[in-house]
Amino acid sequence: MMNLSNDVVIDGFHGALITPADARYDQARRVWNGAVDRRPRLIARCTGTADVTAAVRYARAHNLLVAVRGGGHSVAGHAVCDDGIVIDLSAMTGTRVDPTTSTIHVQGGCLNADLDRESQAFGLATTGGIVSHTGVGGLTLGGGIGHLMRRFGLTIDNLISADVVTADGQVVLASNDENEDLFWGLRGGGGNFGIVTSFELGLHPLGPEILGGLVAWEMDDAPDVLALLREVAAAAPDELGITGNLRLAPAVPAVPSELHGRPIVAVVVCYAGPVDEGERVVADVRRFGKPVLDMVGSKPYVIHQQMFDAAAQHGNHYHWRSHRLPPLGDDLIERIVEHAAAITSPLSTVPIFTLGGAVGRVDEAATAFSGRDASHDINIAASWLPDDPDPGRHVEWVREFFAALEPFSRGVYVNFASDDDPADRVRLGAYGPEKWRRLTALKAKYDPDNVLRGNANIPPTHPKPRGGQR
Ligand SMILES: Cc1cc2nc3c(=O)[nH]c(=O)nc-3n(C[C@H](O)[C@H](O)[C@H](O)COP(=O)(O)OP(=O)(O)OC[C@H]3O[C@@H](n4cnc5c(N)ncnc54)[C@H](O)[C@@H]3O)c2cc1C
Repeated sequence: MMNLSNDVVIDGFHGALITPADARYDQARRVWNGAVDRRPRLIARCTGTADVTAAVRYARAHNLLVAVRGGGHSVAGHAVCDDGIVIDLSAMTGTRVDPTTSTIHVQGGCLNADLDRESQAFGLATTGGIVSHTGVGGLTLGGGIGHLMRRFGLTIDNLISADVVTADGQVVLASNDENEDLFWGLRGGGGNFGIVTSFELGLHPLGPEILGGLVAWEMDDAPDVLALLREVAAAAPDELGITGNLRLAPAVPAVPSELHGRPIVAVVVCYAGPVDEGERVVADVRRFGKPVLDMVGSKPYVIHQQMFDAAAQHGNHYHWRSHRLPPLGDDLIERIVEHAAAITSPLSTVPIFTLGGAVGRVDEAATAFSGRDASHDINIAASWLPDDPDPGRHVEWVREFFAALEPFSRGVYVNFASDDDPADRVRLGAYGPEKWRRLTALKAKYDPDNVLRGNANIPPTHPKPRGGQR
């Protein structure tokens, strides 16, 4: 093993180089999932594209395993590796909105919060994730689902171009006009084809006030509430983002203390249109049955986007498995409720995202992202404190819940795939055989040596002999 002292040098690199000898090392190798504990040889914290190219060339020259860090929220911990180099984009958080074209450039290490805040400064927005501390990088490259997707499409449907550092350290632009094959693969293929140092995204007028929040009922009402979710999702206008969630009510200030720890089912709404129109659209949800909590109201979009931040804390331990689902039939609802009711931790959640609207109107072949016709993504998301004496019970709950839904599964959203999924799950579950062939051929063109493999990996079909032309 190479012995790196604190004064390692990479030609042309201007950022911070953090080795195990550095006081910043333990903080710098930490990712969102506290269960991930990897020890890279070197963390190269980049300041821009030039640093990324220098780091890639260094990694290749020294034959180092590579991990790329965006927001650090991959549950499997793909942002770090043991004994290799982390190409860390977390300091690259620059943004620039152009209000004349309604576009934003966000650097590869931006978080959702950066995207939302800067866009909203101009009264604009685009689809991002539902937790503001998630990275734009990984989220976008996998597809990007969120409250606004039924109105504005997935995050990738708003991607106009990307600045990419390829696995051989070249800088290329990917768009519909340039390197279109790469642009196709970036939109759903994850970090397999290059390191994106800047994303150009289309924006839309929104807010700043939107109608959003959640309504919750006792878990006993879950069969009826999930049937309501089914009915509303089938008929709702695109403006309505709607997500189910089953969990124990969290002990956070926004939730009355008498509810803390009680099993609940919630419906989360976000209306991407005029507030008064939203009030009318969600009225039936709010009137349904006997809610124990109604937090729906008019609020700034950026505040709505932070609603789940506190419930998704850095450093807790996480284990997720996920399915794409068809419309919620009664038998599927029954299984979801049975297993949600057996939840083992007050920190675990079971969000049920509703697709449809603009997501389903993009041609399935247009991007690497697959499964646009699915109705829902369910995420069985276990979480527990680092000192939990029996973490195995939470993992087992996920395993049993996941298995019970398998007969209904329509595959998996690659950003919710787990390292526990068999390799086939990415190939067949996330992409299907036809796209898989196209993706592996693309990988052979852009990363024939599979340098970028710290991800839901797409291996190259026909590795190119070293030194060959692309
Ligand atoms: C709390 C939480 C909430 C979430 N909510 C949503 C949601 O609402 N919608 C949704 O779609 N997903 C959601 N996700 C899933 C999320 O999209 C993935 O975890 C995603 O990988 C996170 O990206 P990141 O940049 O933060 O992660 P990282 O761990 O830094 O990166 C994830 C993967 O992407 C690669 N990568 C990251 N940035 C780049 C880049 N710039 N160029 C090339 N490769 C890169 C990494 O190498 C790694 O393989 C959520 C995840 C968490 C933990």
